[in-house]
Amino acid sequence: MNDQAETASCADNHNPGLLTMDDARTRIVSSIEPISEQEEVGLWGALGRVLAEDIHSPIDVPPYTNSAMDGYALNSHGVEQGATLQVIGTSWAGKPFAGRVETGECARIMTGGVIPDGADAVVMQEVVQREADTICLQRPVRAAENVRPAGEDLAAGARVLGKGQRIRPADLGLLASIGVAEVTVTRRPRVTIFCTGDELRAVGQPLKKGEIYDSNRYTLYSMLERLGVEIIDLGVIPDQPAALEKAFGEAMKGSDAVITTGGVSVGDADYVTGMLEKLGQIDFWKIAIKPGRPLAFGRLGEGRFFGLPGNPVSVMVTFYQFVQPALRRMMGETPPPRILLQIPSATPLRKRPGRAEFQRGILETGEDGTLVVRSTGHQGSGILRSMSEANCFIILTEESSGVEAGELVSVEPFQGLV
Ligand code: AMP
Ligand code: MG
Repeated sequence: MNDQAETASCADNHNPGLLTMDDARTRIVSSIEPISEQEEVGLWGALGRVLAEDIHSPIDVPPYTNSAMDGYALNSHGVEQGATLQVIGTSWAGKPFAGRVETGECARIMTGGVIPDGADAVVMQEVVQREADTICLQRPVRAAENVRPAGEDLAAGARVLGKGQRIRPADLGLLASIGVAEVTVTRRPRVTIFCTGDELRAVGQPLKKGEIYDSNRYTLYSMLERLGVEIIDLGVIPDQPAALEKAFGEAMKGSDAVITTGGVSVGDADYVTGMLEKLGQIDFWKIAIKPGRPLAFGRLGEGRFFGLPGNPVSVMVTFYQFVQPALRRMMGETPPPRILLQIPSATPLRKRPGRAEFQRGILETGEDGTLVVRSTGHQGSGILRSMSEANCFIILTEESSGVEAGELVSVEPFQGLV
């Protein structure tokens, strides 16, 4: 088919044909080598880091058989409803009872307390009648009732976390629960960023006619910060070849990746692609995606180069679709499944066939309690407010020519829960 011929030929540098979004992502990600250097980090510094090793539990969790309830530990064999038992001691959490529970006896026990020798069950305190040092059972007791066996959560030697996993809050807790104080993680990528544009001013400065505030560096910086990379920020570089060459030279030093915004189109002040061609290696791609069609991808020094478009929404869309998966691979992370929901659109959505579109949407609960998605409105690639208001992308395929109200659309939520 025509489409395929076009896609295949797009591997050539500067080919004006359009590469499909999935194809572009696959090519970029598969060309990335994971960082091989590793480092040891303590648990407090491990959140968000990517494990470079499998973790096996050195101990049983829980380490001893214990009570799931506040109550009385006893031997369930031969005790019947109405039996009276002598309370001979107490097993507190952290302070076990040293004696042995014999027939006709029981021990007071707290949640998390060690089950004393001779006992095999715990009866809840709510179902006994206590009088002085005896209890009277109000109902029969089953063996193992309210008992959490040693190793119930994890057996010693079991694999608890895998190489390539990004450490989340539950994982940190899990590591602590098995007594692991340090883990081996992949070194964080060093990512150099700068924005290009003569019109860009820093916040805090007054704007002259024709100037705008540089917002891309803030979105780019924070997307990278969330990802957990080390950021080297070179600021705003004017649209002058000499200034750009200096910035490229600086960025080349020790960066695993360089990310720029602006200057990758075909305007008279767009020098980024040319500079990459001069100082590095370039694959300049036009991708069938809206917003964000031009993307300069290549190598600079030892690192990878991502020249993102200048429009603020394009920066974010191309970052999430291409740069983030590439950096995650660089970090050694096993890619998590992509979460795409099929949700009815609250309104008709306009679109022309040809490019995949990342429209900004608001996912909300409709009157009947089910999810619907509505557009944030005007979808210009310069309208950053649309990203700020949105909580999801509405992804429309290349072929799509729009949808009617009520039709299902693919929705990619911005936020994961944990
Ligand atoms: P360019 O890709 O350099 O042609 O830029 C495309 C559009 O994005 C222009 O309207 C620029 O003014 C705008 N733009 C470029 N860089 C930034 C930035 N750092 N912050 C906000 N807008 C930008
Ligand atoms: Mg520009």
